[in-house]
Amino acid sequence: MSNLMKYYVGGEWIQPHSQNTMEVINPATEDSVGTILLADQVDVDRAVAAAKAAFPAYAVTTKAERLEYLSRLLEISKARLPELARVISTEMGAPMTMALEMQADAAVGHLQGFIDALEAQEDQETLASGDVLVREPIGVCGLITPWNWPINQIALKVAAALAAGCTCILKPSEFTPLSAVLYAEMIHEAGFPAGSFNMIQGDGPTAGAGLSRHPDLQMISFTGSTRAGTAVSKDAADTIKRVTLELGGKSPNLVFADCDLEERVRGSVQECFLNTGQSCDAPTRLLVERSCYDKVVDIAAAAGAEAAVDDPKKEGDHMGPLVSHIQFDRVQSLIAQGIDEGARVLCGGVGKPDGFDKGYYVKPTIFADVTNDMTVAQQEIFGPVLAIIPFDSEEDAVAMANDSPYGLAAYLQTGDPERAKRVAAKLRAGAVHVNGGGFNYGSPFGGYKQSGNGREGGRFGLEDFQEVKSLHFG
Ligand code: NAD
Repeated sequence: MSNLMKYYVGGEWIQPHSQNTMEVINPATEDSVGTILLADQVDVDRAVAAAKAAFPAYAVTTKAERLEYLSRLLEISKARLPELARVISTEMGAPMTMALEMQADAAVGHLQGFIDALEAQEDQETLASGDVLVREPIGVCGLITPWNWPINQIALKVAAALAAGCTCILKPSEFTPLSAVLYAEMIHEAGFPAGSFNMIQGDGPTAGAGLSRHPDLQMISFTGSTRAGTAVSKDAADTIKRVTLELGGKSPNLVFADCDLEERVRGSVQECFLNTGQSCDAPTRLLVERSCYDKVVDIAAAAGAEAAVDDPKKEGDHMGPLVSHIQFDRVQSLIAQGIDEGARVLCGGVGKPDGFDKGYYVKPTIFADVTNDMTVAQQEIFGPVLAIIPFDSEEDAVAMANDSPYGLAAYLQTGDPERAKRVAAKLRAGAVHVNGGGFNYGSPFGGYKQSGNGREGGRFGLEDFQEVKSLHFG
């Protein structure tokens, strides 16, 4: 990849100032697949200056002009999906089928969501007061993204910023720079004005913090850990930036005895293991009504035993490795802690699956007889680890579901539509998935409590990048 050691600034690929290198590792083979340069403050300043210089002209482009750029990007994204899927799979280990159908597909899905939202948005509104409200781009934006759904997050931020008329600097995760380079090439090909989109590679403490603190930025949109989200908020506070955060989760999945247990419990295990458990909204706490607890444990154990781990290069619905040795060590230590705290191992456990000596592969693990205060029920593990916890009543289930610092998503399995409405209303989460209902592009995504601030996707994601101005006429 010829642009891997460059940054995209002011409409061209430039040589970084920094000489600080980092290897990009394929987690399935542990081999290096490239090298990036980690930006220093000079590189950050250069990219910010380009975005700042481009803002006055890009901010006043018409909606029709921006829709034209976005439509071109949509066509290019569709054409380059297989390429995107291949690099995502190489850099973070998503199996090819999933990398194409879900990871890369998000580039198209979210972009379409923003195109629809921009088309539907009125240029101005007359308020009940008689005054006129107009929406304007907030300004120059820093976009910091994680490695677990790399293109999903990039599309959610970059497409929204550009649709709103903002200029931006993307700093993707240092673990997944390949897909970001490809995305920058796609933006270039779509013909966005020079400086409207810029990208640097770099780590959190230098490049990320350099953006968060920068006085010339008006907004930071961040996705990642709660730890880093806290740091970003503090760093951005001195310059009063708008900070939107998509952070971690420990999402509850409430299983009532009146659902189709076989189908819904199997579906729940698969959902938890999707992307090798590396999804912020994964349903990792399976809260089960006591009357069907033993049956659910049996179904989950069978589903867990069938969950396959294999080479991400192969087609199929198996799991790949975790993204890095750091994540591997972290997940191993949390599985060990679950065992130490007395949870019952239904499948999996510590160590690598048989036949996988190389690569950051872990055993899909299910714990039964967990209590909600155990570490495996409270901490985000970010691996294929499910904790099953019994409950005695609906109130008990809701209280346990909400007993978490997080509030990103919640899941509900019940055959009773009235119960579904009643319980969904009590769950403190940004999304509630009922009986396997999946996320649709264009809907808002984001969390309550320590899962973040703001929403991404569609109308709400677009509005996060806008200011409102009221016009008072005499
Ligand atoms: P991370 O917080 O370590 O890194 C995320 C990004 O932040 C990276 O680009 C990193 O370089 C940067 N970063 C790290 N420290 C920083 C700092 N002090 N200042 C500025 N930037 C900094 O997280 P990760 O390990 O890459 O991703 C996993 C985490 O992200 C999980 O906790 C997961 O739940 C969360 N996540 C949330 C969502 C969501 O939408 N809510 C989506 C994906 C991932």
